[in-house]
Amino acid sequence: MSDFKSGFVAIIGRPNVGKSTLMNQIIGQKIAITSNKAQTTRNRIQTVYTDSDGQIIFLDTPGIVKAKNKLGEYMLKCAEGTLSEVDIIMWIVEASTFIGKGERYISEQLIRTNTPVILVINKIDAVPAEEVFKAIDAYKDINDFAEIVPVSALKGDNTDELIRTLMDYLPEGPMYYDADTVTDQPERQIVSELIREQALRLLDKEIPHGIAVVIDSMKERPGGRLVDIDATIICERDSHKGIIIGRQGQMLKKIGTNARVGMERLLDTRVNLKLWVKVKKDWRDSDTQLKNYGYRSDTL
Ligand code: GDP
Ligand code: MG
Repeated sequence: MSDFKSGFVAIIGRPNVGKSTLMNQIIGQKIAITSNKAQTTRNRIQTVYTDSDGQIIFLDTPGIVKAKNKLGEYMLKCAEGTLSEVDIIMWIVEASTFIGKGERYISEQLIRTNTPVILVINKIDAVPAEEVFKAIDAYKDINDFAEIVPVSALKGDNTDELIRTLMDYLPEGPMYYDADTVTDQPERQIVSELIREQALRLLDKEIPHGIAVVIDSMKERPGGRLVDIDATIICERDSHKGIIIGRQGQMLKKIGTNARVGMERLLDTRVNLKLWVKVKKDWRDSDTQLKNYGYRSDTL
């Protein structure tokens, strides 16, 4: 066991390239939420992979995108701060030869760090093999990568090869977490992310990024395998509140039912979920309110 490896890997990449899907595939459990809308992942979620060779601690950074408001600035700071602390940067892109402005912006940030960068070319299940080879060639030209690994996060293709490659670049080190730990994210935060994920999936485009979810209480019933959870969805406008609740409460009911299924699987118990909706205007631009809803810059 003296050559046990361990260390920290920052996952970066534009929104929607499959960062959360890859993390979930690697640890085999649903923790980082996924959706086809941009900027789903807001907080830096730490997930842990352990086998007999070593332990990899993944930091899922919010997508690097230019800041539009205080929340955007927070997300950017989060991503940049992570890059200087880690052993490996894992940059995820899609299998395409088109290298756009977003990729070039990220590449410029990466050239300035001394940390080895492993490029992961994801979604290889969605294109012919020929396209994957072309993408590898195109990316080789824009940066000096330690390794380039093609994978399908969705199907799990080549993800074990990715793990071996990451282990190669990690230093020898201790087990930071117990072997059965998969995240240090508190249960409450996971629960609120599950509710936000369903809101993202079910609601119209302009609302989801204006919402936050607060867990008001979470209590296990004595002796029973049942947890009571009260949660509030915070939105920016009265009109949004109406849409979230839906006609005769149908939308809110659907969000709650779907989220509850995820919670029951994760907590391995029955869940009684009560959902409320509150309006707080402009919460995204208020520092105090960001702190109240769990986005704190002092934890960066
Ligand atoms: P993130 O914003 O980078 O965290 O991206 P997500 O993990 O939320 O994924 C965005 C979308 O891409 C989702 O609809 C995923 O199902 C899809 N996706 C992720 N990985 C793959 C993959 O390997 N193949 C295919 N075909 N789709 C993928
Ligand atoms: Mg994500």
